[in-house]
Amino acid sequence: MNRMIHDIQKLKTEKDAVILAHYYVDEEIQEIADYIGDSFYLSQIATEVPHDTIVLCGVTFMGESAKLLNPQKTILIPNSSASCPMADMASIEKIQAVKEEYNDLAVVCYINSTAEIKSYSDVCVTSANALKIVSNLPNQHIYFIPDENLGRYIASQLPEKHFIFDDGFCHVHAEITKEEVLQSKELNPNAQILVHPECTPDVVQLGDYVGSTSGIIQYATESTCTDFIVCTEIGILHQLKKKNPQKHFYTANSIQYCPNMKRITLNQVHDVLKNSLNSVSLDEETSSAANLPLHRMLELAQ
Ligand code: SF4
Repeated sequence: MNRMIHDIQKLKTEKDAVILAHYYVDEEIQEIADYIGDSFYLSQIATEVPHDTIVLCGVTFMGESAKLLNPQKTILIPNSSASCPMADMASIEKIQAVKEEYNDLAVVCYINSTAEIKSYSDVCVTSANALKIVSNLPNQHIYFIPDENLGRYIASQLPEKHFIFDDGFCHVHAEITKEEVLQSKELNPNAQILVHPECTPDVVQLGDYVGSTSGIIQYATESTCTDFIVCTEIGILHQLKKKNPQKHFYTANSIQYCPNMKRITLNQVHDVLKNSLNSVSLDEETSSAANLPLHRMLELAQ
């Protein structure tokens, strides 16, 4: 075992810490993690692990979510500059304006948002549970923030609700084009197309399967098909290949790469554990307001 990994394992025991990692971080980080998953799984598991300290290997909003759900625990993030650009895309002024316009409104906040934006929302969702949660809301009007593509995908399945969309996006998914997917399909005609709903609607339309990262992994693993074109961030390929060594996975383009997720390194994981660095802290007012929509998500997703 490499020295750095050995030291991380030792520090984990000494500090009663657990490492959670998102599917989009580098392979070597996934390999040292105790739990790997998408945003929904990570927020859920953060409430279940017994450890005093959680090292959250993902972008900063994930550390914030873990802290909101576990205010008594220490949440360490390996790199405090690894932030998701989408997390700041919703505007509080716009939320307030839309709230004034509609009576029977629910502000539905994609978990990829800052704690402050969550604090102005009624319920959080992830790509794994958004359809279930929005369909169970009693409200007629849904203001879906910030990701427009995910909002439109959910709206297409709930024609009985009236959606107002925001204009946020994930650059990694939005840059996958229909032409690239079709080109990849031409090269791999037997491949099924697996699409994350943060992709644009014309790419979503091409999907044999559309769903969250955990949904994509489950679908590919259970499928009898052996070839897949994967339309999401490339970090997911590590688990796809590990679970399905006999299957083939292709991407649509060469830039399905999230630079922020890839900023997290083994050195940083080691250093935050050793010196208790980058502990997430949130002011009390934001915390208590942002906690409600997150807990509501966990309840409604049951
Ligand atoms: S892949 Fe997209 S949504 Fe996920 S952290 Fe990166 S920029 Fe944000």
